[in-house]
Amino acid sequence: MRPLPLLVDSHGREHRDLRISLTDHCNLRCTYCMPAEGVPWLAKASLLTLPELLAVAGVAVRAGITEIRLTGGEPLLRRDIVEIVAGMAALEGPSGHPEVSMTTNGIGLRKLAVPLAEAGLARVNVSLDTLVRERFAELARRDRLDDTLAGIEAAIAAGLGPLKLNTVLMRGTNTDEAVPLLDFALARGAELRFIEQMPLDAGHTWTREGMVTADETQAIIEAAHLLTPLPGRGAAPAERFAVRPLGEPDAEPLGTVGIIASVTRPFCGNCDRLRLTADGQLRNCLFATGETDLRTPLRGGAPESALTALIHASLAAKLPGHGINDPGFLQPRRPMSAIGG
Ligand code: SAM
Ligand code: SF4
Repeated sequence: MRPLPLLVDSHGREHRDLRISLTDHCNLRCTYCMPAEGVPWLAKASLLTLPELLAVAGVAVRAGITEIRLTGGEPLLRRDIVEIVAGMAALEGPSGHPEVSMTTNGIGLRKLAVPLAEAGLARVNVSLDTLVRERFAELARRDRLDDTLAGIEAAIAAGLGPLKLNTVLMRGTNTDEAVPLLDFALARGAELRFIEQMPLDAGHTWTREGMVTADETQAIIEAAHLLTPLPGRGAAPAERFAVRPLGEPDAEPLGTVGIIASVTRPFCGNCDRLRLTADGQLRNCLFATGETDLRTPLRGGAPESALTALIHASLAAKLPGHGINDPGFLQPRRPMSAIGG
């Protein structure tokens, strides 16, 4: 393994985390992500193939990426998902093999959790916004709660942990479930992470007033549990808390909870993430308005040095922050499902 120059941007942030969207397709239509009719899908021929994905990830790992998160769209819809995981897990960089994880709606895990674990998947984040079947069917526009729950149990049984569950709270929709969802996670030794809704949906329906803020979320949980901030956040997006029974500061924690305040308390200063879209465009931020095309040079047989130079050029242009709170903020052209959350 020949190491490559580390991925340090012009603000001194060293990049360790690569998020790869494997497809923009999905078997759900969560209201905060996609309109009911879906989005104009990427052409199949434009999706990076397994060797192309491994070529980009291989360069990134040799340049110091230690964590690869597979996402989408719904990553489990890729027919070659087990081969992708195995290929990624076998890559080698200066710190050894990367940790390969996945963000998924969980639906395919009943079938795939064991083969994925055997292929080298370390852990999964499963999205879960409600435990009520009718509400799930409304929120995700598909009646699949049972499949998601079965996927969660399969992930636990396959040892894909520590399991994380992702929840987006929406005013008037599921805020009453913040505590039941947290209790569901605690009972399974999982960490629930509440994510502030971001202006990334294809339907452009996000409003600041509709978003449940991190402060509100914390207040709802603190009515039922005692939260104590945990130190050592590093580059992680989540602020983490130990959870104890109310009024029992000396009790053994029941577990942990995370709050991701992307909008109201941005954490860009410590960002260590790069993103690759399913069609091979490198993005230096979830909210970037520009992208670096890696697919064309890859398919044109560009040497590895050219790919490396393009990745470094994208990093050099990375802005200090996402600017959601600036008056001139423009929502990126691509929705979350096409960027990879
Ligand atoms: N389909 C997979 C899933 O749902 O976990 C992976 C892709 S999804 C885009 C990744 C994560 O982004 C999910 O946890 C989802 O809840 C979150 N997400 C999607 N749209 C969002 C938005 N507008 N604001 C905040 N989080 C969002
Ligand atoms: Fe699909 Fe995930 Fe978007 Fe829901 S959040 S529509 S599961 S990509």
